[in-house]
Amino acid sequence: MPPTQVVDTMQDVDASHLTQGTMVSFHDVSMVYDTGTVALDDVSLTVADGEFVAVVGPSGCGKSTLLRLAAGLESPTSGSVAVDTPSRAFIFQEPTLMPWETVRRNASLLVDLAKMPAAEKQRRVDAALDAVGLAGFADQLPQALSGGMRMRVSLARALAVEPEVMLLDEPFGALDDLTRQDMQMQLLNLYDRAGFTALFITHSVFEAVLLADRVVVMSARPGRIAAVVDVDLPRPRTADMRFAPEYTDAAEHVAGLLAGVR
Ligand code: ADP
Repeated sequence: MPPTQVVDTMQDVDASHLTQGTMVSFHDVSMVYDTGTVALDDVSLTVADGEFVAVVGPSGCGKSTLLRLAAGLESPTSGSVAVDTPSRAFIFQEPTLMPWETVRRNASLLVDLAKMPAAEKQRRVDAALDAVGLAGFADQLPQALSGGMRMRVSLARALAVEPEVMLLDEPFGALDDLTRQDMQMQLLNLYDRAGFTALFITHSVFEAVLLADRVVVMSARPGRIAAVVDVDLPRPRTADMRFAPEYTDAAEHVAGLLAGVR
């Protein structure tokens, strides 16, 4: 789906009954598609302001559905979804760049839809490209970039909006291992600096534990929350934390829970 459509269709998700400090809330949410598929069954979850929550679970358990509900791209069949801000950005597994536009134009796409002075838009795009290390590639076309760099353009496009909530749907799933590790550190760095709230879908237990404050483990379809695991690693997170006992303990715990819900 092109990114412009994402913003166009993002609805205001009711925030009237959120408790203070909560940025995203799912309350008794069930989602049954027209086909009769029950994607989510009675899911309740809150994400605090500034918190990083990762969601893992078997394929088809409703993870993307959860994210689309938070984006306002879908409405739940029952229950309620509330987000405390209209300032949200959605990042997909594919970078969804326009091949005929430069890196700068691609990174400008979302912020260009906002009402603000052109100079402010430009400042934000420059800052976002700088933050993802692509300032020197602003005039290149996407074809001149590696897969990791294209994903960084996608991140810059979201960052330029200066979103309060980042919704990320397996953003690094298509990248090779080394690039993926590099992108994880970049995202952590951006998170430390920008302080957004993150809801991050992944298949990787190791990625979830490295990035998140809490890891939500979902059961096989119909998706329910099987467990929520706190990750007891300090911030800022660093690459060498992958070898810390707290990291391996949490990863083993989540992997064990995941094995039990398949
Ligand atoms: P996950 O992200 O965990 O792989 P999804 O949220 O994409 O799971 O999908 C959950 C279930 O809902 C799957 O069985 C999927 O086939 C089904 N589903 C997802 N989107 C739709 C849709 N638009 N219409 C019908 N079924 C859907």
